[in-house]
Amino acid sequence: MKIAFFDAKPYDKPSFDKYGAEYGLDIKYFETKLNEDTVELASGYDAVCVFVNDTVNAAVIDRLCEFGVSIVALRCAGFNNVDMKYAFGRVHVLRVPAYSPYAVAEHTMAMLLTSIRRIHKAYIRTRDFNFSLAGMTGFDLHGKTVGVIGTGRIGRVFIDICRGFGMKVLAYDKYQADGLDNRDTVKYVSLDELFRDSDIISLHCPLTEETYHVIDEDAIAKCKRGVVILNTSRGALVDAEALLAGIKSRKVGAACLDVYEEEADFFFEDFSGHILEDDTLARLISMPNVIVTSHQAFLTEDALSNIAQTTVENIVRFAKNGQCENEVCFRKGHAEDCKNGKCF
Ligand code: NAD
Repeated sequence: MKIAFFDAKPYDKPSFDKYGAEYGLDIKYFETKLNEDTVELASGYDAVCVFVNDTVNAAVIDRLCEFGVSIVALRCAGFNNVDMKYAFGRVHVLRVPAYSPYAVAEHTMAMLLTSIRRIHKAYIRTRDFNFSLAGMTGFDLHGKTVGVIGTGRIGRVFIDICRGFGMKVLAYDKYQADGLDNRDTVKYVSLDELFRDSDIISLHCPLTEETYHVIDEDAIAKCKRGVVILNTSRGALVDAEALLAGIKSRKVGAACLDVYEEEADFFFEDFSGHILEDDTLARLISMPNVIVTSHQAFLTEDALSNIAQTTVENIVRFAKNGQCENEVCFRKGHAEDCKNGKCF
């Protein structure tokens, strides 16, 4: 099978070459992202392999169908960049539901500790032989309350890590996880209670119409003064303008962002030496209490290997059996429309 692999980065290739060769796939790596302008590159291939910032909208899906490309293999968990309603009945969308919740949860804690213990400042300071501690005072995590929105795979690992630090956990999820609510350390609450009582808020839910801008001006107004906001999930969960206003007014004490609403224009690319066109992102990065990483929470050797293995196995299984447990599809009314994949 011939696979057109979009938005290819050097760190993708070793794992995909390994598993591709093992399963007999012929993978062509394209550095460009998939979108309406680049979809022509998919002509002559059996499947496209895409990542978080590729665009699989109606126009792209139409062209893929014309080329006979029936498989869109996402090498990520989220599928908000795919027009799922339009994809239904036209292309099969496969994903990697879980590759390492530990990678993302551990990165979230790494960002939190870096921020509140000023490690990012200390690193620069001591390299300049500046051993002053002025302005470096942090706070203990032990005894603090963290609000976790989304208690799926990553959210639950993050909760475990927080419990290890002796933190209290307030959780919110549209579908509560069995056995998680433990009155001593973890308690499901309403979103308003979570905003009201959390010292730190961490987002681990998918981006949907319901969760779009879940952290907006209203939400920030309900939060404690000095709240720390962590987003390693999807950029548009946070209204970046409202966050900036919250930081300027000192309502938000710190923010750690691995994702950003308009990240597709910038993340994964080197813009050093250029003038950044996005004023909101530039202003956020300029703040001493904001840490931005470039959607790297997933980036561990373990996760990359798992992603490649599952993506390749998804494609091979689907090609062989016409079905795959990791297919996602939009249900049009009848359960029979999607017997094997995850429907929504
Ligand atoms: P998951 O599907 O296991 O968990 C998501 C949870 O969110 C589920 O419990 C679900 O019930 C809940 N949820 C759904 N709608 C909700 C709503 N309206 N309000 C509150 N909760 C809601 O997914 P996961 O593997 O834990 O991943 C979580 C998110 O992390 C993904 O959607 C993705 O956007 C993001 N992610 C980021 C990176 C990265 O590198 N930064 C890597 C992987 C995943």
